[in-house]
Amino acid sequence: MGFTLWLLTFLGMEGMAWLTHKYIMHGFMWRWHESHHVHHKNPLEKNDLFSVVFGIASTLTIILGAEIPALWPLFPIGLGIATYGLFYFIFHDIIVHRRIKIKYKATSRYMKRIMKAHYVHHEVHTKDGAEAFGFLYAPKKFE
Ligand SMILES: [Zn+2]
Ligand SMILES: [Zn+2]
Repeated sequence: MGFTLWLLTFLGMEGMAWLTHKYIMHGFMWRWHESHHVHHKNPLEKNDLFSVVFGIASTLTIILGAEIPALWPLFPIGLGIATYGLFYFIFHDIIVHRRIKIKYKATSRYMKRIMKAHYVHHEVHTKDGAEAFGFLYAPKKFE
């Protein structure tokens, strides 16, 4: 049961991330996300605050689930959010944007597809008009 909740949360987070990215980040929170769509040389950007918010949310969820027996499902749910955050960070911040210098070249169809989708997302530098809001999943048209 715990494992299933963890897995479902992890998978469901891609949908949550897609919705958040499309309707909140490219919506009323564009003032944070804009920093991620312009070129700059700063080590941090305002957009990183979203990671802080999601990090706090998953931490609180894990703590509540661990401390209050009746709320135990929050423990695997919080872990699912945190696992997604980790995969997101590795894919988005390291592999796509190379905030940490690594030598990696995508060879699998899956990796090429999700990387291409995010490059397509970054071709647009404005709040409106962008496409490909997902991260770990991309439709076949981005092949
Ligand atoms: Zn964006
Ligand atoms: Zn990006």
